[in-house]
Amino acid sequence: METIEKWVEKRPFLKEIGLLYKEAAQIAEQALPSLSLGIAPSEWEGLICGKEPVMEHIKNALAEKAGCLLENLCSGLSETEGLPERFREGCRSITGVSGGDKSFYRGIIFAVAAGEKALNNAVPIDSEPLARFLAWNAVRACLKPYVGDIAKGCEKSGYDKPLCPVCGKEPPMAYLKKSAKGRRRYLICGCCGSRWLYKRIGCPYCGNSDQKTFTILETEQEPGIRADVCGKCGCYIKTVLEPAGPAEEEWAWLHIDILCSERGLKKRGGLLDEERL
Ligand SMILES: [Zn+2]
Ligand SMILES: [Zn+2]
Repeated sequence: METIEKWVEKRPFLKEIGLLYKEAAQIAEQALPSLSLGIAPSEWEGLICGKEPVMEHIKNALAEKAGCLLENLCSGLSETEGLPERFREGCRSITGVSGGDKSFYRGIIFAVAAGEKALNNAVPIDSEPLARFLAWNAVRACLKPYVGDIAKGCEKSGYDKPLCPVCGKEPPMAYLKKSAKGRRRYLICGCCGSRWLYKRIGCPYCGNSDQKTFTILETEQEPGIRADVCGKCGCYIKTVLEPAGPAEEEWAWLHIDILCSERGLKKRGGLLDEERL
């Protein structure tokens, strides 16, 4: 598994965002023992009914745990040496207005989980993108131990939609996994980190399944990392052949996004599109 350090060493333009992810991941890892949502592997199949996102059913537990982690992230990152000052300043302004109130952080998690555009609390407007970004990071950390169970639950329940079964968002990424029946494709949610099996050929954004209309965009320097482009809607999905480490995270692909945007292709899903951190 490639580490964040190695990934960034080869791609120095990702230094700032890579550092933010790395520091956030370290804080989440320390908090991990206290983040359990207490959901047994067998429960996911029932939770993934396909009607409403799973988040609807687990939002109270999630807001409790992810809210605590969000508080830790804001206070920890505001003190982290080497992080660009604008991130530290943003974290300080969030902790400043929270007044140390746990329900403030829970409120942010509820708001992002419900897909609210404006966070319905006192987060300063300049810090909103950062607050939303860190809130999803906290949610992702809480769900990380369940990623395998969620994927299995989706297969058992026959979930085959292009939207995330847990949070309902569009996926910005996919990975291909070898199996006895050839490669299988899993979609990856850029917000909550869930992944689920999806048909191998087909655009998750417009439903196009005409194989001749798809093209692959990749760079010589990075075989195994590519954009699968749909000729019908002009959108692309970032696809990795063997998932590992940073390749499963959206930030690690910013250069592919730039390459695609230069060609007029449209990005869908994920966190980093609308959020200017
Ligand atoms: Zn999701
Ligand atoms: Zn399409």
